[in-house]
Amino acid sequence: MLTTAEANKAILAAMPDFGSEPVALEAATGRILRQTVIAERDQPPFDRVTMDGIAINFAAFANGERSFRIQGTQAAGDPVQTITDPGNCIEIMTGAVLPVGCDCVIPVERISVGKGIAKIEIDYEPQPNQFIHPRGSDHQKAHCVLSPGIRINAMDIAIIASCGLAQVQVSKQPRVHVISTGNELVPAGQAIADHQIRLSNGPAVVAMLEQQGFTNSMHEHLLDDFSQLKESLAAHLEAADVLVLSGGVSMGKADFVPAVLTELGVTVVFHKISQRPGKPMWFGVGPHGQVVFALPGNPVSTLVCCRHYVLPALSTASRRKTWAQEMITLRDTVTFKPPLTCFLPVKLIANESGISEAQPVPTNTSGDFSSLAATDGYIELESHHANFAAGMAVPLHRWSF
Ligand code: AMP
Ligand code: MG
Repeated sequence: MLTTAEANKAILAAMPDFGSEPVALEAATGRILRQTVIAERDQPPFDRVTMDGIAINFAAFANGERSFRIQGTQAAGDPVQTITDPGNCIEIMTGAVLPVGCDCVIPVERISVGKGIAKIEIDYEPQPNQFIHPRGSDHQKAHCVLSPGIRINAMDIAIIASCGLAQVQVSKQPRVHVISTGNELVPAGQAIADHQIRLSNGPAVVAMLEQQGFTNSMHEHLLDDFSQLKESLAAHLEAADVLVLSGGVSMGKADFVPAVLTELGVTVVFHKISQRPGKPMWFGVGPHGQVVFALPGNPVSTLVCCRHYVLPALSTASRRKTWAQEMITLRDTVTFKPPLTCFLPVKLIANESGISEAQPVPTNTSGDFSSLAATDGYIELESHHANFAAGMAVPLHRWSF
């Protein structure tokens, strides 16, 4: 049986490149950037005034001048003015270009204005170059401001817009088909009998993908019927880049998924991982390189396997940059006997110093997904260790990242 690390490695080796495409800036949030973003101009593009007030020539102040004749007014967006005499000033607004001949801004709170003269407060001591954000001091023109591989957030949108780009190159969205299986399952909104179960994995997997920025997905539910599964999965294999199935991969008499996939020419890469929950997970590659994740149907297993294998695989295939594994200290001691890796849901709780620690939230079997409410993710406890003491640092996998 594969270890969790071996399973991840085998999956990554099988992942295709989904390619890239241009999108409008407005549609780029949450997508993976595939280009470098280069500064259009120096930033700021001119010496930028950062206070409302007056702009003066500092040498005039240093020579004892305290009253300046207001030569004109210049707001943000106005063309630059030039003072024609060191005894003059320009009324100036935040965001305006520093007028030519000026090198000091006096805040409006420090002056009094009357009869076209601005008078500086008697005990106010300005410094040369104050309240000026110098041209190019953030970065110079052609500087690389964003590199490929980031997931675009609001700050990145601001930077891309500031570079004048109305569109950017991002990874293409893989077409992901989510297929739940099981005769016992009834979707929300339909009448349900005592012996039936609400279908929750399909919508949950779609939601998990969507939260991670993979929005090109659909869900269909299929019954545990060999020929129906075969016919429907054949169609999904034609239409999708990625299949995420739930249920039907264990040893029960109605668990047809691996056999059907094999008949459809999907080559098994592995079946079973040395972990709990989610041990029966199956993974294979279709005839055109489609990747097929068949997750065990128990809801905790489905969610943990989707987070642990499907999301990182899609991220890596989308060329998202990876970073060091996040670690967290355990708040409580945990014991786990079987020689398997344990994925244990946790809530992050601040200790007395305000630093987050992982509070284990054991689930009552892998069917108990209501316990996952308000959890932040799960920790990974190495196999072949039985005791994990409070205070120990362990890997944390957040539900979304
Ligand atoms: P399976 O992996 O098909 O043997 O399913 C294991 C358990 O998970 C069974 O109790 C199923 O009823 C339950 N289950 C499977 N699929 C779903 C689903 N889509 N939503 C909720 N529960 C499910
Ligand atoms: Mg089933």
